[in-house]
Amino acid sequence: MRKVSFPYMGTSYIPFKNLLEAFGNEVVVPPKPTEETISLGTKFAPEFACYPFKIVLGTYVQCLEAGANTLVSSGGVGPCRAGLYTTLQEKILKDLGYEFEMITLEPPGRHFKDLLQSIKKLINAPLTLKDYISITRFVWKQLVLLDKVERLSHKIRPLEIKKGEATRVYKKCVELIASAEKYRDLPEIERECELLYDGIQKRDSDPIKIGIVGEIYVLLEPSSNLEIEEMLGELGVYVERSMFLSQYTIYNAVLDLFHMAGERNVKKTAAPYFKEMCGGHGRESVGNAILFAKRGFDGVIQLSPFTCIPEIVAKSILPKVCKEHGIGFLTISLDEQTGKEGLRTRLEAFVDLLMAKRNQTKSFTVKPQIAKEMA
Ligand code: SF4
Repeated sequence: MRKVSFPYMGTSYIPFKNLLEAFGNEVVVPPKPTEETISLGTKFAPEFACYPFKIVLGTYVQCLEAGANTLVSSGGVGPCRAGLYTTLQEKILKDLGYEFEMITLEPPGRHFKDLLQSIKKLINAPLTLKDYISITRFVWKQLVLLDKVERLSHKIRPLEIKKGEATRVYKKCVELIASAEKYRDLPEIERECELLYDGIQKRDSDPIKIGIVGEIYVLLEPSSNLEIEEMLGELGVYVERSMFLSQYTIYNAVLDLFHMAGERNVKKTAAPYFKEMCGGHGRESVGNAILFAKRGFDGVIQLSPFTCIPEIVAKSILPKVCKEHGIGFLTISLDEQTGKEGLRTRLEAFVDLLMAKRNQTKSFTVKPQIAKEMA
C-alpha cells in the first residue's frame, strides 16, 4: 500500500491528508518543522540551496524515517531553481539509501498530461464521479475555512486586551476544522469559530498596518519565518499577507489550467518597475507592495529566503518603490542562522518608525485646521 507524505506548509496538511486518504492511501502526516528538521536539511542540501529547499528536504527525511514510501511534491517552472527542486531532492534522498517514489504535481497550464498521470498514481480506491465531487467540496471548504480563521487572527490579535487570546482561539479553530469528517460538519464549525473570535475582548484602536510579501514557502509556513505574524500582532500591528493557499490554488491551478492570469492586477501594477518574470514571486512582491501602499498601509515587510534569486531581484527594486509610494519598507532574509530575538528587535524598531511617521503625518495634517480655528 502507498504510504504517502508531503511537505509541511502551514495548516495545508489538514485538507491534503483528507484528500489523500479519501483517494485510498495511507498518509504519513509530515511533522511540523523543528530545529531537527532544519539541521537535517542543512546537513544534506548543497550549501547554497535556498532555505525552503533545506526545510523540505529535512521534512522528507523525517517522513521517510516514519515509514513513507511515496513523497508528493509540487513542481515549478524556472527561471529560478524551483523547476529543479524535486529532481535534486529525489537524487539526494536516493543517494542516502532511501527507497521511495517521488510524485511531482506540475502546474497544469504547462504540464497537464504529466499532472493527470501523477494524480492517477495517487488514486488507489474505486471512486465514482459523485465521490470525487464530494471529496473536492469537503477539502476545498476546509482549506478556505483554515485561511479564513487565520485572517481573523491577524485582524483580532492587535486589538486583543488579554495577550495571547487570538492565538489561543486560532489554534482552537484549526482543531475544530481538522476534526470535521464531512462537508456537512463545516458550516456549524464556521459559526463556532466566528463566535469564538467575537468572544475576545477588544480595544478600540487604529493599529499600524503592515503588508507582508515574499516567497511562498516562507510566507505560508510560520516555523520558517519565526512566527513573524504572531510577533507583529503582539506588537499591536495589523498584518495582511499577500498570499493564502486557497487563493494561490485558484490562481496557479484552476486559472493556470485555462491559461488565465489570476494575479494579472498584481503583475500589471509591478510592470513599470519589474516587467519580466524571474521565477518565484519576485514580481508579485513588487506589485503587492504597491497595492498595499495604495490601500493606505503604513509599511511593507519582504520575507526573502537566503539566496532566493527572485526575491533578491525584488529586494533591489522595493526600497525605491516603497519610497515613491510613501510607505515604510523592511526586508528580512531568512535562513537557519536567523534568530527570533534579533528579528523581534528589528520589528520593534520598524514599528516604532512607522508609528513616528504616522504621528508626524497626523500633526502635519492637523496643523492647517488648528491655524484656521485660531484665525
Ligand atoms: S523562489 Fe526562491 S526559494 Fe523558491 S525555489 Fe526559487 S530561488 Fe528557491
